[in-house]
Amino acid sequence: MLKNISLTLIKDSNFEKIIKVVDNKTTLNTIICIHNTKRGPSLGGLRIYPYKSDDDSLFDVKRLSEGMTYKSSLANIPLGGGKSIINCLPKNITNDMLKLYAEILNDINGDYICAEDVGSNVEILDYIRTYTKFCAGISNGSGDPSLFTAFGVYRGIKATMETLYEQDGSLQDKTIAIQGLGNVGSYLLKLLFPTGAKILISDIDNDKQKILSTKYKAYISNNILEEKCDIFAPCALGGIIHTNNINKLKCKAIAGAANNQLLTEDLHFKLHKLGILYVPDFAINAGGIINVSQELKNEGYDFEKSKSDVDKIYYTIKNILHVSKVNNKTPYEISINIAKNNLKY
Ligand code: NAD
Repeated sequence: MLKNISLTLIKDSNFEKIIKVVDNKTTLNTIICIHNTKRGPSLGGLRIYPYKSDDDSLFDVKRLSEGMTYKSSLANIPLGGGKSIINCLPKNITNDMLKLYAEILNDINGDYICAEDVGSNVEILDYIRTYTKFCAGISNGSGDPSLFTAFGVYRGIKATMETLYEQDGSLQDKTIAIQGLGNVGSYLLKLLFPTGAKILISDIDNDKQKILSTKYKAYISNNILEEKCDIFAPCALGGIIHTNNINKLKCKAIAGAANNQLLTEDLHFKLHKLGILYVPDFAINAGGIINVSQELKNEGYDFEKSKSDVDKIYYTIKNILHVSKVNNKTPYEISINIAKNNLKY
């Protein structure tokens, strides 16, 4: 048990356990949220982000945690859903904060395993791993998941394009708009570059935008959300589609990596009505978790096995979109049904 640390349990019947620790000495302000462990220990990224309020951080970690349950369940991997946040600017994180965070994971004793997310990286995970074994995605394990997440999104985009145009999924001369050029978005851009697609990009980091635009012959957009395009790929933060901007979208489909792209889940009905194919985030962005899950296997991490498992996202998306069309249900409804059914076993 942790000594001299005030640990608060936040009650919510939809979650197995929510633990909050605010420590004055290290200034650590963290929430570890375990949504469901029916399929195995909960695994999800550690997000290091300067939230405006405690309510904001709790809202975010809960949604992300629940999303992880459906993501792992849909991908049929033996993991549950969880997520954690540390409320601070990534540049302000200290070793003392990370050490205490690791000790809290030891206290939870394996019901939650942390991995990489926005604000954290392999270096941070390696440090946490020196104090706890409940940490995955380290440098001598599966490493940075972003490449695999991007590869899964790329395969999902191919499946979406095939469904949209009922052809071979060629991206030649199709327009793809990427919002966010971080770890995942920049890999996605690299994968899309040789396909002959016209690529529009946007990032709040101007320098990054300029460098990547030159390198991959992509066009910088000042209003990526409203661009006329075949695929809009959100790869920045969540909540970017809401009631105030949904009618302004001019894409044929949304297929990207960001978690919780819709501010409220019910917006998938509205997108369906608007004739926009929304590929659920937790279906298309599972590449990272599929890759990390390989690290936890007894036989150890295998890059090629990981790649071939992530490739299956193509078939998952094809199936979801097909069943959605045949039953006139939204792809979100189909995906969540499969994920919830998989939770029963
Ligand atoms: P990242 O922090 O490396 O990149 C995010 C990028 O988005 C940054 O370059 C940032 O400048 C940019 N950005 C932020 N707000 C923006 C805005 N309003 N408009 C345009 N650009 C903006 O994060 P990442 O690891 O690339 O992850 C991206 C998204 O994908 C996140 O939502 C994350 O939760 C999700 N995701 C990531 C992984 C993974 O393997 N890294 C796996 C699953 C889901």
